Amino acid sequence: MLGPVILAASRSDRMRRLVSAAPVTKQVVDRFIPGEDVEDIVPVIRSLAEQGLELTMDVVGEDITSPAQAAAARDAYLELIDRLKPLELGTRAEMSVKLSMFGQALAGGHELALANVRPVVEAAAEIGTTVTLDAEDHTTLDSMFAIHEELRKDFPQTGCVIQAYLFRTEADARRLAASGSRVRLVKGAYKEPASVAYQEKHEIDRAYVRILRTLMKGKGYPMIGSHDPRLIAIGQELAHQAGRKPDEYEFQMLYGIRAEEHLRLAAEGHRMRVYTAYGTDWYGYFMRRLAEKPANLRFFARSVITRG
Ligand SMILES: Cc1cc2nc3c(=O)[nH]c(=O)nc-3n(C[C@H](O)[C@H](O)[C@H](O)COP(=O)(O)OP(=O)(O)OC[C@H]3O[C@@H](n4cnc5c(N)ncnc54)[C@H](O)[C@@H]3O)c2cc1C
Repeated sequence: MLGPVILAASRSDRMRRLVSAAPVTKQVVDRFIPGEDVEDIVPVIRSLAEQGLELTMDVVGEDITSPAQAAAARDAYLELIDRLKPLELGTRAEMSVKLSMFGQALAGGHELALANVRPVVEAAAEIGTTVTLDAEDHTTLDSMFAIHEELRKDFPQTGCVIQAYLFRTEADARRLAASGSRVRLVKGAYKEPASVAYQEKHEIDRAYVRILRTLMKGKGYPMIGSHDPRLIAIGQELAHQAGRKPDEYEFQMLYGIRAEEHLRLAAEGHRMRVYTAYGTDWYGYFMRRLAEKPANLRFFARSVITRG
């Protein structure tokens, strides 16, 4: 089972240094993270939008250690929003944020993260778009949901993410569906213990379907965050059963993964949003992508051996 080993490595500073210094790393990283700064990413945004795709933008970075870094993360999003403004994409380009990057794990982190994320949500609203709060490891979620609820008082379109692998998520989904929230459902990408999360793929997939049914029947806006062809087909069927029109739910996938499927769904008239990450602190994001598919790791290892 390579996945859990890679996820453990994603928390290791030694591995971070090794992987970041490997000569071919950048080339493999580019598949998932198509830029290091806002200058790189604007042409990518334009190109995806021209292909009929929508976007959610993630400035990568999570393990910050000071309030100054949290403020810098906030400013990076504000700069991005500033650059998005003239493109006039409205909700076709929204933001995804990790509250850890806004200071959630520091002393007084809950208040700090809320104070840092609020201006980003306000700036997004000013250009006619919105923000979704990503879900990180299970210890952070009560704070994330509380911040989500707080932000929704002024910005009801603020979204959040729920993870099918967690036992708690069915109850979270019922609450969020009743309150009419925008909710992205994903399987879950962190290493979680058996005390809080399903460990087997078939259990996670079954939970995903149960939760998606709740979201589709509810009052909110479901966002199906998965590349899994079976879950995508089930999502379409559940939306149909719930009488939802194509603009009453959407699909979301990660940049660099099953790109042909992004275009197929968009061509069929679905709202298809591509989660597009950029930035220099890509290590954690990259390692989670390796963990999701061991073939990625084999490709990475082969590149290191043949070039290194
Ligand atoms: C838009 C979006 C946002 C997300 N946000 C979060 C979040 O906030 N919190 C969180 O915990 N997780 C998040 N995730 C990650 C998610 O939890 C899963 O880890 C990830 O989506 C893989 O699960 P899957 O549903 O695609 O199904 P899987 O069964 O893992 O994959 C189905 C198929 O998709 C392809 N595939 C999937 N992953 C990869 C990959 N890395 N490389 C190459 N091919 C791949 C393969 O063909 C695979 O067979 C997000 C995922 C998406 C799509």
